[in-house]
Amino acid sequence: MTTYVYDFHQGNKDLRDLLGGKGANLAEMTNMGLPVPPGFTITTVACREYLAHGRVPAALRDEVDEHLRALEQAMGRRLGDPDDPLLVSVRSGAKFSMPGMMDTVLNIGLSDASVPGLARQSGSPRFAWDSYRRLLAMFGRTVLEVPDELFDDALEAVKKARGANSDLELDETDLRGLAETFRTIVRDRTGRDFPQDPREQLDLAIRAVFDSWNGERARLYRRQERIPADLGTAVNVVAMVFGNLGMDSGTGVAFTRDPGNGDQGVYGDYLQNAQGEDVVAGIRNTLPLTALASIDRPAYDQLLSVMATLERHYRDLCDIEFTIERNKLWMLQTRVGKRTAAAAFRIAVQLVDEGLITMDEALARVTGAQLAQLMFPRFAADGQARQIARGMNASPGAAVGQAVFDSRRAVQLAAAGVPVILVRRETNPDDIDGMIAAQGILTSRGGKTSHAAVVARGMGRTCVCGAEEIDVDTHRRQAAVPGGLVVHEGDVLSIDGSSGVVYLGEVPVVPSPVVEYFEGKLRADGSDPLVDAVHRIMTHADAAARLGVRANADTAQDAERARQFGAVGIGLCRTEHMFLGERRKLVERLILADGDEEADAALAALLPLQRDDFVEILAAMDGLPVTIRLLDPPLHEFLPDLTELSVRVGVAAATGEAGVDGEVVLLEAVRRLHEENPMLGLRGVRLGLLIPGLVALQVRAIAEAAVIRRRRGGDPRPEIMVPLVGAVQELEVVREQAERVLAEVAAESGIDVPALIGTMIEVPRAALTAGQIAGAAQFFSFGTNDLTQMSWGFSRDDVESSFFSRYLELGIFGVSPFESLDRDGVGRLVRLAAEEGRAARPELKLSVCGEHGGDPDSVHFFHRIGLDYVSCSPFRLPVARLEAGRAAVLAADQPSDTA
Ligand code: PEP
Ligand code: MG
Repeated sequence: MTTYVYDFHQGNKDLRDLLGGKGANLAEMTNMGLPVPPGFTITTVACREYLAHGRVPAALRDEVDEHLRALEQAMGRRLGDPDDPLLVSVRSGAKFSMPGMMDTVLNIGLSDASVPGLARQSGSPRFAWDSYRRLLAMFGRTVLEVPDELFDDALEAVKKARGANSDLELDETDLRGLAETFRTIVRDRTGRDFPQDPREQLDLAIRAVFDSWNGERARLYRRQERIPADLGTAVNVVAMVFGNLGMDSGTGVAFTRDPGNGDQGVYGDYLQNAQGEDVVAGIRNTLPLTALASIDRPAYDQLLSVMATLERHYRDLCDIEFTIERNKLWMLQTRVGKRTAAAAFRIAVQLVDEGLITMDEALARVTGAQLAQLMFPRFAADGQARQIARGMNASPGAAVGQAVFDSRRAVQLAAAGVPVILVRRETNPDDIDGMIAAQGILTSRGGKTSHAAVVARGMGRTCVCGAEEIDVDTHRRQAAVPGGLVVHEGDVLSIDGSSGVVYLGEVPVVPSPVVEYFEGKLRADGSDPLVDAVHRIMTHADAAARLGVRANADTAQDAERARQFGAVGIGLCRTEHMFLGERRKLVERLILADGDEEADAALAALLPLQRDDFVEILAAMDGLPVTIRLLDPPLHEFLPDLTELSVRVGVAAATGEAGVDGEVVLLEAVRRLHEENPMLGLRGVRLGLLIPGLVALQVRAIAEAAVIRRRRGGDPRPEIMVPLVGAVQELEVVREQAERVLAEVAAESGIDVPALIGTMIEVPRAALTAGQIAGAAQFFSFGTNDLTQMSWGFSRDDVESSFFSRYLELGIFGVSPFESLDRDGVGRLVRLAAEEGRAARPELKLSVCGEHGGDPDSVHFFHRIGLDYVSCSPFRLPVARLEAGRAAVLAADQPSDTA
């Protein structure tokens, strides 16, 4: 038989699935012997059954009865007893804490009949009426859904009438009057009286907690944070202890360390003669926790000792809620506390130094996403600008620019060198050009899966979305913000994509100290504790990692940066940019060549240019492998635009203009090579097979560059990579040509620089025939960008801005498959190709060089399926290194996973 209710003595901290986070931790503290008021937890299973069938499971009522009786016995009071009532609180508590879940209801069990009894027992009628008016308001608001303001306004009115600044100045008569008013409000708004039967109060509150699981805000939050929708929440019923019994009582929240920056030492707020949410609701000014030392030393000392015990027990930063009832301390809640990225790194190493955790655990407790946050430039803290709104932190970074309200204007101004912030109610695919042009994007509608958020993240653009306080008027090119202020086009805005805060005016941007550390400008020498923490954890990650991390870099500059950021080589050097700019004309000549002679001349002109490029890159990566990929993009990218050229030739024909014969020939070539779907056209290896001499040119340039580096005393380690192969035969032809050229150069120069020859796997057919392809390849590098687009049949450039936000909303993806590898589909192809490739050639080197190489989740997957290294953009390197280390220590903890 299912047990729906657990006494605090029966649970423990590992039962979060069943008891929710709050319930599991209350049980843990109870069993540690800490002062927790007695109580019980109704499980998530009960909630799930309620949600599935629309009614509370029959056995639940009996179990609640039974636990209530035990609670009454422990407390020596009966729920609702008019002479001496037991009061309880009802609090929601899911596995993950979630905004939008039902707030706590305190003082359940009080009624018109039992207020006098409570007054007598406590010796304070004021306290009894204070407790009752709180129950009426909390129950009215959270269970009966009466608007909050009605209670607040009534309270304010009484304070005003009495000339009182705070609720503390209200006396028994005021509070009794307030209770009367609140009861009337409840009756007027709900058409029924506030329930006087304590058991009915309890049952209604429990049901309200269950219902709040499906509240709109909770649902939205779960979707955004990818929390499963079917977990359900637990409900905690706890005997009341009172912080509102006088000035020797109070309530507070505290952290065992500073969750903002990780500083050591307790940190928190305290409020005397107060209850529940008073501390966080801002009704009165709270005192810093340290003030409690002078108010009630013994309670303070006990609190510190409990906090130290909790930290040692949980071996982590804990956040707690407590109440002091007439000098007696009670613990109401604890959990491992949330913290900023900086605090996460600092606290992890502090705990190592205190002997509480190992370096492996410290590494497991920080994430690549946190490290990435620490690497964005930040706004300087001393900015003079005024905060005008706050939205969602949709895509990190700090962006400053003039406000513009439409994309066209954004593009115009950006082209003139003016930084802009694109401000829209929400964006749509027509805004793409403006989003590309802008420094940052600010919207007043939409969440983290809105179009603006998805596209901005994909582009790495700073974005704050859903800043609802801003009223955007695109027609008048302005936005109204709270306080009667209006932002006009051209006004400077600063937006913080990491916190969601929007400022009017320019906030100075400062570089991240963590990036300065990676760049070698700052040392881990004890002057900045954050830099020290990052250094120690990165060092450990590098030592733990099995997966190597290389960079995608195609210039010497990028290669140098990549080295500083810890790359152990280049995993992808794209060569296409080496054929653009002034060199495009040479490629055009090659494509249009009329006969071998012309083609050879064009190739001969390209050779030294290519060679110099490679000399520089091999020098920057001296001693480390550099995987150079042969040309990939479609040929037409090297030719003039079809429409423009057609118009020019057409106009010349109409006006009888002479001397355009060359353009006519060019137009024919452009037409011949025009493709409706260039992504699926003459790309990659296909180019090399169609244009005679292209492969030979590139391989010769690589080999000669290596010879030059050797002659200069260097240690060049080039690798040649063939893109977009679909069949082993394609690779065999290219490989033969490449080997011939390598042998020629070795014979000519007398210097033999070995170079591995391998291929990218980026076409599904290549993955499916990997066993065959491995026969001709010394390494595979998975091009997961193409593999993703070819597996799904959509191109990132075309579809990300058009329908991905809708797909995310519908839950078809949890995250864009271009950001994080789709394990079930694309990942399966990668795994299969890796296995079959290795089976055919055991020494085959395996890697990935698509964007996923820098994505934390994907890195863990690549580790698990046994790749040798990932390759990612230089800026993502530290994240990939950290995650490669984490993947190793986390995998060591877990049974091996096949997916
Ligand atoms: C890939 O397809 O994953 C890849 C790295 O190649 P590109 O992005 O240049 O197409
Ligand atoms: Mg590709």
